[in-house]
Amino acid sequence: MPATNVLDTKSFCFVDLRQAMPELPEIEALRQRLAPSVVGRELLSITILKSRLIRPRIASDLNAALEKALIVGLDRRAKYLLFTLVDRQSRPQTLLLHLGMTGRLSWIANGDFIPKQTGALFFFESQSLVFEDVRQFGRIGICGAELDELGPEPLEAAFTSEVLQTRLAGSGQSIKTLLMDQTRVVGIGNIYASESLFLARISPFRPAKFLQSGEINRLHASIRDTLISAIDRNLRATELGGFPFYYSPNGKAKSVESPPEFNVYGATGRPCLSCGTLIQKRIQLGRSTFFCSACQV
Ligand SMILES: [Zn+2]
Repeated sequence: MPATNVLDTKSFCFVDLRQAMPELPEIEALRQRLAPSVVGRELLSITILKSRLIRPRIASDLNAALEKALIVGLDRRAKYLLFTLVDRQSRPQTLLLHLGMTGRLSWIANGDFIPKQTGALFFFESQSLVFEDVRQFGRIGICGAELDELGPEPLEAAFTSEVLQTRLAGSGQSIKTLLMDQTRVVGIGNIYASESLFLARISPFRPAKFLQSGEINRLHASIRDTLISAIDRNLRATELGGFPFYYSPNGKAKSVESPPEFNVYGATGRPCLSCGTLIQKRIQLGRSTFFCSACQV
C-alpha cells in the first residue's frame, strides 16, 4: 500500500457532538476522505465490542462473512456508508455502516490504545479503523432491506424540481418535517432542513401542500446549494485535520475548531444575515427549528 494512503490517527468525525446527527454532507465528505485509504485493501477481520451496533446479524456471523475480504468500493446512500467487498469465495458483499447520532471513525496503529467508546474495530494490515459510538444509535451490518424504502438522492441529476414536487404533493404536514422524512428525500436532517428553508425564504411551518410551484423550485435549488456547500466545507475542514476533534496522546478527544456558522441553525437571537431580524427557535415535533420570521413566509 502506498505511503500516501496511510492516514494518521486523527478522527474522521466532522460533526460536533453539541450539534446533531451527521447528515448527507458530513457522510459524503467522510466517504470521499475515507475511500482512498480503504478501497483496494484487505479487511483482515472485524471485532465488535458493542453488540448492540450489529443488526440484524450477530457479530460472529459478520466477521465470518467478511474476514479477509477485499474492499473494492465505498459508496454512500442517504446517511449510510456502503463498503463493497469481495469475500474469500469471490462473492460480492455490502457492509453497511450508519454513524447514528454520535458515531465516528478514526485510525489507530494496530496494538495502540483503543478509545474508550469503541464499538467496532476493522483490522487491516498495520492499522485499524475504529468506530466509536457513545450513544450507540449507529449500526453495522450486511446490507439487507434497509435501503428499500429510501427516497431519492437530492444531489443526483434525476432529482429535479418536479420530483421534489411529487414527493411533497398533497401532504398536510409541515414542509420542514417532510424534508426530514427519509422516504420523501434522503440525507436531510434538522440542520440542512432549516438552512434550505431559510435560503428558499419559506417558513418551516407551512403545510407542504400549500407551497406554490415557484416556491418548490426555490426550495429545490436551495437544498442542492446548501448540501453542496456543506460538503465543500466539510472537505476543506478535513484538510486542516480531523475537524472538529482529534485524539490527544492520552486518547481523549479534543475540539480543535469551533463549530461551523450556519445562517439560522443554532443562531437563536442573532440578527438575520439578510434582514437583521433576530433568528428565532421553536420546537417543532420535538426538534428545534430555527428561522427568520421576516424572511421566511
Ligand atoms: Zn431575515
